[in-house]
Amino acid sequence: SDRPPTLDAMLRAAVARKPDGVALVLGEKRVTYAELDRVAENVARNLIASGFRKGERIAILLGNCLEFIFCALGAVRAGMIVVPLNARQRAPEIDYVLQQCGTSALVYDADCKANLPAPRADLRNQWVVGSGRAASFTELMNDAPAAALPELHQEDTAFLLYTSGTTGNPKGAMLTHVSIIHSVLNFQHGYGLHDGDVTLLAVPVSHVTGLVALILATIHVAGTTVILPAFKAPEFLAVAARERMTYTLMVPAMYNLCLLQPDFDRHDLSSWRIAGFGGAPMPEATIKRLAEVLPKLNLCNAYGSTETTSPATMFPPGSPAGKINSVGRPVIGAHIVVADDDGREVPAGQNGELLIAGAMVVPGYWDNPDATRTGFVGGYWRSGDIGRMDADGYVYVVDRKKDMINRAGFKIYCTEVENVMSHHPAILESAVVGKPDPVLGERVHAFVYSLDGGNEADIRKYCAERLSDYKVPDTITFLKEPLPRNANGKILKTELRKMMAS
Ligand code: ATP
Repeated sequence: SDRPPTLDAMLRAAVARKPDGVALVLGEKRVTYAELDRVAENVARNLIASGFRKGERIAILLGNCLEFIFCALGAVRAGMIVVPLNARQRAPEIDYVLQQCGTSALVYDADCKANLPAPRADLRNQWVVGSGRAASFTELMNDAPAAALPELHQEDTAFLLYTSGTTGNPKGAMLTHVSIIHSVLNFQHGYGLHDGDVTLLAVPVSHVTGLVALILATIHVAGTTVILPAFKAPEFLAVAARERMTYTLMVPAMYNLCLLQPDFDRHDLSSWRIAGFGGAPMPEATIKRLAEVLPKLNLCNAYGSTETTSPATMFPPGSPAGKINSVGRPVIGAHIVVADDDGREVPAGQNGELLIAGAMVVPGYWDNPDATRTGFVGGYWRSGDIGRMDADGYVYVVDRKKDMINRAGFKIYCTEVENVMSHHPAILESAVVGKPDPVLGERVHAFVYSLDGGNEADIRKYCAERLSDYKVPDTITFLKEPLPRNANGKILKTELRKMMAS
């Protein structure tokens, strides 16, 4: 067709090029492009036969598995908007997302049943992977009579990825076909991806990196995605060697964990060409260690976010060694401005907030005009990251403005944890800060002023029932007096950080 390509057209092109090529691998299972296309077609037809229409939201609560990809690609073909949920989320978090975007279909893993909120009226259909009381997901994969598939457009939203924010309420970034296609093309060109590439998917499918940088970028080049259900360093290394992995992208903490394996260099990783990393600051020591152990490996920092549909900058293979601490240069089509607090550009080399524009930037947050207005100004997404750009256009991320903790790539907005803790009956005041950690980057540390002197186990349990496990404070300091505040009543987190360090 001569219409601009969409994600579905991208899948069809890969199928036409390599029908017998292996698209997906999970353990012993191998799925060819022709099989992937057939399952996606069945899912699309069955969704349409069940009465779902273009633009309706389908939430997917699955870990890294084949069904996630079957369901996502089928739903996209049916024109539905896919809302990936993280299997680590708890019922209140999931409930918020389902109602915020008015989800009418849900596919979930039987193992996540305990985390599901009570179903709302607008949820018309549920399918379960594994055994449960809902209809089986296999029904969606069964052969179905031909259905009229909707026409897709580049500006259509394909995925809603929820990211937390300063207010504590998650916002649904609207990833469109065109934002994703731009990202995927940047991965193809930046890393030289091709149909012989074998990608190891060790990060969650529910986040932008797993979804766009790995699954969709690999489908675009008709390569092979090897799925790891969960990241464990020994298994990652064994599968990487066995499947002859050529490319992956992971957060720095995962590389740290691999390097801690005593037998790291006993695995044959000679096929590995591109090691992408991002999602959190990469320690220079980790880069150096990786370069020592695997001297031929291209170490490629990538900086981006959900709102930029993955990379805004990339450190492409062959970049000068002197720039190793940078996150690379803006990707094709991205424009980055370093600005002061009033949004004015600062001179080259000076620090400021990174503002990002371009076709890979999402148009806004789902049904959230306020957050869209404050988050995107004049077409630029306000990253909340502090950085600078050197004379050669390399970007350095040095700090962040947003009150966020980056725990092994998982973003935790302090307000969200503080909101939950504020409802605990024994807590008078609380604040959370990031505690530096050599492997994970940061951990969650809470300061609590409580009535009863403090019961750490009880507070952690209270949080664990309401928040994803990685958001639960790892450690707590109990104070006998109120938290330090400035004249305006704002908690002085710098003071708390000093207290933590001493
Ligand atoms: P994913 O959710 O798949 O991990 P992501 O980390 O790119 O993807 P977000 O979760 O939206 O996306 O987080 C974006 C934030 O992560 C950035 O604003 C920045 O603070 C931090 N970040 C991302 N990449 C880098 C990097 N290469 N170096 C330093 N910080 C980074």
